[in-house]
Amino acid sequence: MMKINFNQLDRGYLKFKDEYDKTAISVLESGWYIMGKEGEKFETEFANFTGSKYCVGLNSGLDALVLAFRALEIGEGDEVIVPANTYIASMLGITENGATPVFVEPDKYYNLDSTKIEEKITNKTKAILVVHLYGQAADMVNIKSIADKHNLYLVEDCAQSHGAHCSDRMTGTWGDIGCFSFYPTKNIGAFGDSGAIVTEDVKLYEKMKMLRNYGSKIKYQNEILGVNSRLDEIQAALLLVKLRHYEELRKERANIADKYLNGIKNKNIKLPSIREGSKHVWHLFVIQCEVREKLQNYLNLKGIGTQIHYPIPPHLSKAYDYLGYEEGNYPITEKYADTVLSLPLFEGMKKDEIEYVVDVINAFKLEK
Ligand SMILES: *Cc1c(COP(=O)(O)O)cnc(C)c1O
Repeated sequence: MMKINFNQLDRGYLKFKDEYDKTAISVLESGWYIMGKEGEKFETEFANFTGSKYCVGLNSGLDALVLAFRALEIGEGDEVIVPANTYIASMLGITENGATPVFVEPDKYYNLDSTKIEEKITNKTKAILVVHLYGQAADMVNIKSIADKHNLYLVEDCAQSHGAHCSDRMTGTWGDIGCFSFYPTKNIGAFGDSGAIVTEDVKLYEKMKMLRNYGSKIKYQNEILGVNSRLDEIQAALLLVKLRHYEELRKERANIADKYLNGIKNKNIKLPSIREGSKHVWHLFVIQCEVREKLQNYLNLKGIGTQIHYPIPPHLSKAYDYLGYEEGNYPITEKYADTVLSLPLFEGMKKDEIEYVVDVINAFKLEK
């Protein structure tokens, strides 16, 4: 029997091992480890990659979100519209600043339903945070026009959508600030924690640069209250290697997704839908199944690892008890939490492994 982990990061490393090894050693030998030429080069190249003007390298995707709302001066008493169906980190960027998340149900693509945003806008609403979940862009054309109409900031959580497009524009460049994570499992993943923001606004860019470095532009002159959230040289240099190979990595994920989309034929399984005009980058391949636990146990017995993204919606998590929500408040989100299942899809996944997953899923039967 084949054994296929949900993810296997060493396969990704082995793909370009020589380049990663050389790069890491050259940074070690350089004697310069934080805030140097690798970080600057990465910022320039990542800004170019997204089609944005500026990029600021940070410590994590969560820091990108937290500092984005801080830079926009959104805090206590303010409300931010956010998809109910997302990873809790999206909300933590809001609540860390003392602002209140206002949840909106997802559409059939798992993203913020643009038709349900306006009913949630109040005189306290300051921003909309979109999350391009699983690698597919949210309905940005409509969301951007709602943000403009109501004079709201638009922030994008692109932790899962590096390189994904809505129409001809890349995610991260639709809003005031695009927030990225380079956590190892992401589509552009580092070998440790790191993140970044992109923006077109020079003032926000300057402010983010200060915020990440103790609030100072010039050493020991602290103009605002900052934090330490710097992108270190090794991660930046390794990320540059990944970025160089982006197109190849994107195609690899798209090929796995195509094989699943074309190969999986089982009436108990609902495959992901692709929005017209969007370019999905397949951070995750998420199916739905009414008997998910049964399916997950079955796949597990057949040696196939799966994961659930995400089993507990943020509004029902213990951490957000204080917001006062209960089961039934966001039924679409809750239904997704009960039925979604992510299949293995990773750099270096082999052809026979992909085919094995397809065959095993197609052989799944309810009755027995
Ligand atoms: C991974 C992720 C984050 C957080 O990124 P970190 O680098 O782990 O802090 C935020 N939002 C979403 C949607 C994510 O998937």
